[in-house]
Amino acid sequence: MQKLGMIGWRGMVGSVLMDRMQSEGDFSFVDPYFFSTSQVGQKGPILNGKTTNDLLDAYDIDALKEMDIIITCQGGDYTNSVYKKLMESGFKGYWIDAASALRMESNAVIILDPVNKDVIDNALNSGIKTYVGGNCTVSLMLMALAGLFKQDLIEWVSSSTYQAASGAGAKNMRELLVQMGALYNCVESELKDSHSNVLDIEKKVRMCMNDDTFPTDNFTAPLAGSVLPWIDKEMENGQSKEEWKGMSETNKILGLAPATIPVDGNCVRISSLRCHSQSLTIKLKKDVAVSDIESIIKEQNDWVRVIENKKDVTLDKLTPAYVSGKLEVPIGRIRKMMMGPQYLSAFTVGDQLLWGAAEPLRRMLRLLVA
Ligand code: NAP
Repeated sequence: MQKLGMIGWRGMVGSVLMDRMQSEGDFSFVDPYFFSTSQVGQKGPILNGKTTNDLLDAYDIDALKEMDIIITCQGGDYTNSVYKKLMESGFKGYWIDAASALRMESNAVIILDPVNKDVIDNALNSGIKTYVGGNCTVSLMLMALAGLFKQDLIEWVSSSTYQAASGAGAKNMRELLVQMGALYNCVESELKDSHSNVLDIEKKVRMCMNDDTFPTDNFTAPLAGSVLPWIDKEMENGQSKEEWKGMSETNKILGLAPATIPVDGNCVRISSLRCHSQSLTIKLKKDVAVSDIESIIKEQNDWVRVIENKKDVTLDKLTPAYVSGKLEVPIGRIRKMMMGPQYLSAFTVGDQLLWGAAEPLRRMLRLLVA
């Protein structure tokens, strides 16, 4: 049995990955070894009622080199500090990574097998050993729109995102909840009085969220009661790094040349806890009937769901509250826009910890071992 090294398994992506791997029986195909960057020597996780190895040192190149396959959800700093050393040490195994650090390397493939199994198969046949999960919003957009991309119907896409706090990590999700609690606490007594003036309440909330003591260590600004229209670093062209990933990763995942299909838009952090949503404006290469578009979308993979463009079902099935924890990727609000018959509007929601992070990693493992 091949030896699998698991790194970053107790983080947010790692925990979702562990759940999914246990649900799908993935560990029965491998001999797993668990590593840590901070808890070396402590007890590993319990799998199917059995204890695993005491945690190995995730920076120990000799221990990592023993593995046939490594999955890491530890983050880009870890990848940057270990990957090159491990490769130079003569590691011959497969490296599967959730972090963005290696995505655009020429010897790495971005994995999203319902969309680019052909690209992955070609890479496996040509001996590529590095496989990296895509940016969460890009992967979720492609899970929803791949049918249209594959039929070469898309001239360009503009995506405005509504990204959950958990996309920024565990600490940020906690901070959002603490911010929400602080806002409630500052007007708790006024809310209990049904005669209190709502604009006085708003003023008190506004003063609370702009006070120096308001908890913003992680987001650096209030998110509860607000939105943050910048995610990741600044690029020289005025995009945020998150916005830059839209075009570069979409084209790489689809196996196209870097700038074949333009993808751009604003990426915005909002106060949902889990699930990224996206409002899409799509310029089609030709006029295609909405009913045909819906058929093309829903036939592409087993997880995409077309939601009828009606209010009730949209508010029921096209929200983070409904989609969180589910593998299905709904897309709705599909309609032609006033700009003309080649302009399509749509809205999609997906769990960024599942198809946006953990699921492509475990499915890549299964391509290697079963
Ligand atoms: P995370 O929750 O912050 O976990 C990363 C590591 O932090 C853990 O593996 C763990 O490593 C350490 N850690 C320290 N204190 C911890 C605690 N109290 N509980 C759990 N872990 C703790 O990071 P993440 O959100 O999973 O992201 C991991 C990678 O996936 C990043 O590269 C990220 O960009 C990428 N990604 C994230 C998402 C998302 O939605 N969050 C989506 C797609 C990709 P040790 O056990 O070694 O200490």
